[in-house]
Amino acid sequence: MNPETSPWKKLFLALLAVATVDILVYLGYQNYLLKQENFLLEAELVKTRQAFASTTQDLVVNIDALKQLLTATNVDKINAEQDILKQRELVGAMDAEVDSLSSTLGIYTKIINTDKELLEKYSRIYFLNENYIPKYLTPIPSVYTYEPEKESSISTEVWPFLQKLLDDAKSEGIDIKILSAYRSFGTQTKIKSSYTITYGSGANRFSADQGYSEHQLGTTIDFTTSKLGTNFDTFEKTSGYTWLTENAYKYGFILSYPKNNIYYISEPWHWRFVGKNLALRLHNENRNFYDIPQREINEYLLSIFDQ
Ligand SMILES: [Zn+2]
Repeated sequence: MNPETSPWKKLFLALLAVATVDILVYLGYQNYLLKQENFLLEAELVKTRQAFASTTQDLVVNIDALKQLLTATNVDKINAEQDILKQRELVGAMDAEVDSLSSTLGIYTKIINTDKELLEKYSRIYFLNENYIPKYLTPIPSVYTYEPEKESSISTEVWPFLQKLLDDAKSEGIDIKILSAYRSFGTQTKIKSSYTITYGSGANRFSADQGYSEHQLGTTIDFTTSKLGTNFDTFEKTSGYTWLTENAYKYGFILSYPKNNIYYISEPWHWRFVGKNLALRLHNENRNFYDIPQREINEYLLSIFDQ
């Protein structure tokens, strides 16, 4: 037995001890490094988390701000739309006002420009003023008159209605001629006195006081036929008279003094323009112009020349 350890063994053991310490130191150091790294990583993670949290918060704040902005914008948009609607309503109301004003103005203008005498009744009591002259007169072409050499005229506004009546009658083979149309107060006075000389007091049969007022208006015609001429007192028996009783109202003409009227002797040749609306009413109700109250007749004045 060798109680002493061999020197080789001692050296070996010493080396082993050194190596063991080295290894331990190395491992310890490695462990330290790992921990250090781990610590750094954790710190980094915390930082990142903090940064993330902060970013998230910023985003939430931004989203809220955007939401508020959007809400505010929507409110503005609604307000703007309501403003536009209000403006439109206002413009609409103003348009309606303007329309109503111009229509009222139109009616006033028409009233001012409409000759109120045109639908007046001229009775034995009321005569048209001797100074009255129609505003516009149109000469009647001689093809329509019984005496082509004699100048005849009619209210310019009535002429288109009369011409259509005459043309339509002719195209239906009806013989109607104009014997007399517009007569001035002076002309009428002369006619009446010549009749008076010829026929004495019987002159009124042909030349009524009422009648001459109506002729002075420029809206009234005495008709005859080519055959009858100035002997028109039998006009009632002609086909021209029959045609007129059936059709004249369509052109706005009526018989002023029909048979059995209580105002004056019958004058089948004497036709007066009163406008299509009133003529149609008189025709439909089989009534006489002189039997309708003046206030009712006046309602037709504004539309007297309506087609
Ligand atoms: Zn007459």
